[in-house]
Amino acid sequence: MRVPGMFQMPVPRAALVAIAVSCAVALALELVSGGEPWTVVALLAATLTTGVALFSGPSRPVAAPISVPEVAPPPSESAKSLTELAPFIEALPEATLLVDRNGRVVASNREARRQLQFEAQGLRLSAILRHPEILDAAHGASVDGITRVVEYENAAPVEEHFRVYVAPIAWGDDTAALMIFHDQTTHIVTERMRADFLANASHELKTPVTSLSLLIETLGGAARDDVTARERFLGLMEQQVDRMRRLIDDLLSLSKIEINEHVPPNERADMVLIAREAADAMATVAKGRGVKIQVVTEAAAHQVIGDRFQLTQVAQNLIDNAVKYSLAGGSVVVEIGAAEGREAAADRAARQWSEASRISLLTPSAPGSRRFVYLRVTDQGPGIPRRHLPRLSERFFRVERDQQAVERSGTGLGLAIVKHIVNRHRGGFAVESELGRGSAFAIYLEEARGGGGGA
Ligand code: ADP
Repeated sequence: MRVPGMFQMPVPRAALVAIAVSCAVALALELVSGGEPWTVVALLAATLTTGVALFSGPSRPVAAPISVPEVAPPPSESAKSLTELAPFIEALPEATLLVDRNGRVVASNREARRQLQFEAQGLRLSAILRHPEILDAAHGASVDGITRVVEYENAAPVEEHFRVYVAPIAWGDDTAALMIFHDQTTHIVTERMRADFLANASHELKTPVTSLSLLIETLGGAARDDVTARERFLGLMEQQVDRMRRLIDDLLSLSKIEINEHVPPNERADMVLIAREAADAMATVAKGRGVKIQVVTEAAAHQVIGDRFQLTQVAQNLIDNAVKYSLAGGSVVVEIGAAEGREAAADRAARQWSEASRISLLTPSAPGSRRFVYLRVTDQGPGIPRRHLPRLSERFFRVERDQQAVERSGTGLGLAIVKHIVNRHRGGFAVESELGRGSAFAIYLEEARGGGGGA
C-alpha cells in the first residue's frame, strides 16, 4: 500500500519514525490539555499519514501535487540531510519549523512563514523569534531529547497567543527540534470576552437586587407602620424591578440577534413607517420630559430588505436615547432619506455638522455603488466627548459611569443591540456629536429594488 501523491523524494525510514513520533507526542499533549478539535484532527491526520507511509514499505518517488519550496543549501552536512524532511513539514496544516541543533531553521511550512513573517530558508531561529523561552526549548529539545510545551504572546502590533510544541527528532547521527505553533488567539480573546460579559452582566443585575433587598429590609423594619414611607419604598421597588426586567429583556434580545446575525433578512420593510411608529411609541415619554419629536422624510416610503421587528427596535433605541439625553424644551429630529452610493449615504446620514467629531461604528458590506436608505436621529442634548465615540456600541459602556448616571440611563446595551441588528442587515452605523450642540446617530441600509416611494 502506498499513499498516492504525498511524497516528492525518497525519505529515510528513521525520518518517518521521528515525524510520526513527534506528531503523536503533540497529539497526546493536545488531548491531555483539552485542545481544539480541529488541532486534534490535524495532528491525528499528520500522525496517521506518516504512520501509513511508514508501514507501506520503502517510500519511493511519486508525482507530488504539493509543491515544496526549495530550501537554501544549509551550512553543514547533517543539516543538508535534515532538509529532506521539508516535504513533511510543508504538508502539516499548522505553522511548523524544523530547527537543527545549531539553532538554524532547516525547514518551515507556508503557515509558519506567514505567521512569523519570514521568507528565507536557513535563517537562525533567533532572527525570527525573540522569545528566550522558545529559543531555549528548541535548543533543549535537540540536546536532551525532551518534548516541551511553551506558551507565548505578543501584545503589539496585534494581540496574539501561541502554544508551541517543541519535540525532539533524532535522525541518524543528528538531532533537531520540531516546533508546531498552535494559534490560540481566537480562543483566548473569545474566552476573555465571555468572562467580561458575564462579570458585567452579573454586576448590572447585582445593583438592583441589592437595592431591592435593602428596601425589603426597611419595609419590614422601620417603615412597617409608616404608610407614606411604605408607598415611597414600594415605588422604588417597582423601579428596581423594572430595571432588572429591562436588563433581562435586552440581554435576551442581544443573544437572539446574535444567533441569527449570520443570516441576513429577506423581507421588505419601510423605514418611514418604522420611524413613525417608533416616534409614536415614544411620544408620551417625550412629552413627559418636555421634548418634541419630529419625523422628516423625503418620500412617502423608503423600502429596505430588512426585518421589520428588528428595525423598529433600532429606531426605538435611537429615539429613546435622543429623548433620554435631551434637555427639557429640546427637540429630536428623525430623518429618513436615500442616497446613491455608500459614501453619499454616509455623508447625508452622519456628516452634517462641520465642527462635530464623528466615527463610523460599522461599515456596510453591501457594494458601495448601491442605493442606500438612511435613518438619522438628531438631538440637542449635551453631546458626547470625542474620546468616548469609539466605545459607544460596546456592551454596558456608559459615558458617565457614576451611580446617578446609571440610574438615569438605561441598560448600556441599547447601542450594542443597534450595532448587531445593523450588522445582520449588512448596513452602516455612524455617529457625530458636538459638545453643546447635540448628537446624531444614523444607520444606513441598502435600498430594496423599486424601494423609493416617490417624493
Ligand atoms: P443606555 O441604555 O445607557 O442609554 P446605550 O447603549 O443606548 O445605553 O448608550 C450607551 C451610552 O452612550 C449611554 O449610556 C450614554 O452615555 C451614551 N449615549 C447614547 N446616546 C446618546 C445621546 N443621544 N446623547 C448623549 N449620550 C448618548
